[in-house]
Amino acid sequence: MTTAAAYSVSAPDARFTKTTIERRGLGPHDVLIDIKYAGICHSDIHTARNEWHGTTYPCVPGHEIAGIVAAVGSEVTRHKVGDRVGVGCMVDSCGTCPPCVAGEEQYCDRGATMTYNTPVPEEFQPGGVTFGGYSTQVVVTENFVVSIPEGIGLDVAAPLLCAGVTLYSPLRHWNAGPGKQIAIVGMGGLGHVGVKIAAAMGAEVTVLSHSLNKQDDGRRFGASNYYATGDKQTFRELRGRFDLIVNTVSADLPIDNYMKLLKLDGTLVMLGLPDNPLAVQPFTLAGYRRSLAGSMIGGIAQTQEMLNFCAEHGIGAEIEVISADRIDEAYERAIASDVRYRFVIDAATM
Ligand SMILES: [Zn+2]
Ligand SMILES: [Zn+2]
Repeated sequence: MTTAAAYSVSAPDARFTKTTIERRGLGPHDVLIDIKYAGICHSDIHTARNEWHGTTYPCVPGHEIAGIVAAVGSEVTRHKVGDRVGVGCMVDSCGTCPPCVAGEEQYCDRGATMTYNTPVPEEFQPGGVTFGGYSTQVVVTENFVVSIPEGIGLDVAAPLLCAGVTLYSPLRHWNAGPGKQIAIVGMGGLGHVGVKIAAAMGAEVTVLSHSLNKQDDGRRFGASNYYATGDKQTFRELRGRFDLIVNTVSADLPIDNYMKLLKLDGTLVMLGLPDNPLAVQPFTLAGYRRSLAGSMIGGIAQTQEMLNFCAEHGIGAEIEVISADRIDEAYERAIASDVRYRFVIDAATM
């Protein structure tokens, strides 16, 4: 076993405090990673505050991990000491069910082992639940460790491990590319990466944001069009326009109005997960044979493909690097959308 510094939270309303955690000893297929940066995802906030229920305390969040390989187990072939690597939302899965065999480990029939707050046997992970990336080191089985190409800084790569693949996967699945009209709803931590990736895929990208405040950024990231959803005229003007709408907003939206912006065979993909059921008129779906769909992160192979794609196209997240003692403040600012566009913790400050 190894010990690592970490920042953990001990109750839903507690502040983060510095602590020491144990990481499991290096098994034959394990990689020990010196964490350099960890992004702050909204899922971290929901989990730390038990907003999705089922949080085990103490809780160490963080599933946007970028670092350097410090040691490898005897059987490891995919990574070597000194490699630049990343870990996203998952650290293991059954490996044998149909989704796993198809490389879609996030849909593992048994349930993938998520990077933090997932129960695991005590002998496998001290504490009984996985501890995430708000830490100086992590041990992960080699198949769930991806390579970060030289072309991307580790700091701007970290958020790609969750936010990047969450957008890349549906854009690929629904064939974003030249000649396609894509709308990204919401331009926050998820949406801004989606704009960059969809534009790099060759699609014509439209941002649908509450206001026009971030319009200059959106165009800089590659959007051709930018509309305010607070303006009713937007929904009249864009009716029947899009092949694909990717909704990154977790707040309740009048989803039927957005569905009407789809053209024939168009799809609206939910990435944000509002608390309430979605209200869609059956006539809206039937007209133009529209689809309403969901998508959750991406498989490990696709995560690697996404990182390679981002390196090739010079894509990284827009970040604000913070020291570990500012996590609570960063949470408050992330909730207030006061960040452009992702907080990243510098693990050297732990
Ligand atoms: Zn996330
Ligand atoms: Zn499986």
